[in-house]
Amino acid sequence: MDPSHEILFQPVKIGPVTAPNRFYQTPHATGFGWQRPRSGAALRGVKAEGGWGVVCTEYCSISPTSDDSPHAFLTLWDDGDIAPLALTAEAIKAHGSLAGIELWHGGAHASNRMTRLPTLAPRVQPALYQLPTTARGMDLADMRAFRRWQRDAALRAKRAGFDIVYVYAGHDYLPFQFLSRRTNDRGDAYGGSLENRVRLLREMLEDTREAVGDTCAVAIRLAVDELQGPSGVTSAGEGREAVEMLAELPDLWDVNIAGALGNDSKSARFSEEGFQEEYVRFVKGVTTKPVVSVGRFTSPDRMVSQIKRGIQDFIGAARPSIADPFLPTKIREGRADEIRECIGCNICRAANNEGVGLRCTQNPTMGEEWRRGWHPERIPLARREKVLVVGGGPAGLEAALTLARRGLEVHLADAARKLGGRVNRESTLPGLATWGRVRDHRLHMLGKTDACLYPESRMSAEDVLDFGADRVVIATGSQWRRDGMGVLGMGGAFPGALTPDDIFAGADPGAEVVIYDDEHYFMAGALAERFAREGRRVTYVTPQSVVSSWTAYTDEQGFVQARLIELGVRIVTGQGATGWERGLRTTCSYTGVESLIPGETLVLCTGRLPDLALYQQLAGRHPALGLVGDALQPSSMADAIHSAHRYAREIDGPQPPRREMPPLTDGRAP
Ligand code: ADP
Ligand code: SF4
Repeated sequence: MDPSHEILFQPVKIGPVTAPNRFYQTPHATGFGWQRPRSGAALRGVKAEGGWGVVCTEYCSISPTSDDSPHAFLTLWDDGDIAPLALTAEAIKAHGSLAGIELWHGGAHASNRMTRLPTLAPRVQPALYQLPTTARGMDLADMRAFRRWQRDAALRAKRAGFDIVYVYAGHDYLPFQFLSRRTNDRGDAYGGSLENRVRLLREMLEDTREAVGDTCAVAIRLAVDELQGPSGVTSAGEGREAVEMLAELPDLWDVNIAGALGNDSKSARFSEEGFQEEYVRFVKGVTTKPVVSVGRFTSPDRMVSQIKRGIQDFIGAARPSIADPFLPTKIREGRADEIRECIGCNICRAANNEGVGLRCTQNPTMGEEWRRGWHPERIPLARREKVLVVGGGPAGLEAALTLARRGLEVHLADAARKLGGRVNRESTLPGLATWGRVRDHRLHMLGKTDACLYPESRMSAEDVLDFGADRVVIATGSQWRRDGMGVLGMGGAFPGALTPDDIFAGADPGAEVVIYDDEHYFMAGALAERFAREGRRVTYVTPQSVVSSWTAYTDEQGFVQARLIELGVRIVTGQGATGWERGLRTTCSYTGVESLIPGETLVLCTGRLPDLALYQQLAGRHPALGLVGDALQPSSMADAIHSAHRYAREIDGPQPPRREMPPLTDGRAP
């Protein structure tokens, strides 16, 4: 290990328990929830195995009045929840790490769609993020019940084997709703002065300590700033005062920022590594208890700096631990160069927001630990065959690396001078430079194998057959379509239109450019930003009602829209393109009324077509021909990498994923 990194491996006491090092996997959603306990346990177990000294669960509801359906969350509602959660605690502790559990009540934020119980809140108010429900203002009987739920859940968490039990007042959830003036206008002992608004938190901390504090550490997760200015909790105002009031009550402070739009898990497009530091750095000056926070830390030197400068005692991480569960081990073993750094794309956030199991662009094994039995660092050796991978984008690189790790003789050819495919282009867009890590990590790791890389080598079908490989993997990617067919529209005639491929190849979009987005992920919004920064007059048109609508899943949509507004991009929503004729011909998505949107040049971002030419020429002519990545199915980089990884895992035969089937309550086997 680099001696300067030794400080990261010092044990840290948290109340009655001791963390073996400073690597702290803060709570993060997995999309598995109470329905898939084995998947959740295996995922957390791999984090602990990878060296995270503390590994926490995602949010765990303490009462059926806090139901986040249809999103996946854990439950500690009755004793029946103990055994499934014990799987996770055991999986973490088997590796000598501490197991933390984030007890949760969403208050006005809970949907209660499954339980159909009334939503609770400090006051009568519209339920947050759902319509058309009004949350019930909690009376004193509700307050007593709430305190009992937290206490009972803490006792069950202890029985399940957890070492750290959370009082959770982050992310706009119930205890935070009591804390913030914006959501608490009560006239009783729980409203009014800050002392009163902090009362519930104080009681929760005391109750939890009394219930389980003899053997479990009591952690508090507090949003110290809700980014709403002086009307809300701020780190210079009431956030700081609240920490001062409760300073020594918990055994650990887990601090972040809250508010709408995914502030504390901002993507790299909208935040730098360590972006929360300005909000949370005061905390260590106010308490003697250990402090943890997050900031997409992937650089060991930055981590050391956080500790040495007294910002925090632990390195908190959700996304970096998803991208590389073995990050701590790699630092400890002096292999920091092998860290699979998070690129900050927030595809992991999308999984939870879509209600499916966790996935990650950089780490295709994330979420597949139990279902497919994939381990991020270990992979079985296979028969040594000579394999030719055609295409060196994310999918080709992933296939080559994984096959090389399996012991195959790997050759990779790409037409371009620089390997990386779409990453080379997309990482030049504003804020997406970190996406280059997808290429850099794989090229770096390939450099440690005996794989041969051939840039500037466009392969014809004859070239491929002449190469004499036992196995051929086609990863030739995709091209943006020119016919305008998109998610909502069937296309039209767009003579002279440019595509993102043309722009990346150097085409000039002119002074007045219209961008038509019927793909709805990042590309059109990012190009609009780039063009506006270049001083062009940009009109962004979409048949959806907001810009880059799919980025709502990556918690970025509000930031994208704000950025385009700030840059003066003209935004036209609810218009589907039908053709280009001295301007973009459109019809209203709702009424069908036709319009003409003026512009000099059109850039179409509507979808991609797989580049299948080589595959089709080889079909039936090579006995072991594989197809991966965008050539198989144009999609996110995460999907391209996953498909290539799956191919490499399954060269010896298909491996159908396991499914978690709930046991039948009548005692019969499922
Ligand atoms: P993916 O996301 O599936 O990895 P990309 O579009 O990023 O797809 O990468 C595809 C790569 O395949 C590009 O770098 C391209 O240069 C390369 N490629 C396409 N056709 C050929 C070919 N016939 N011979 C060699 N390389 C090719
Ligand atoms: Fe990081 Fe993207 Fe993976 Fe999330 S999906 S952990 S943001 S690389």
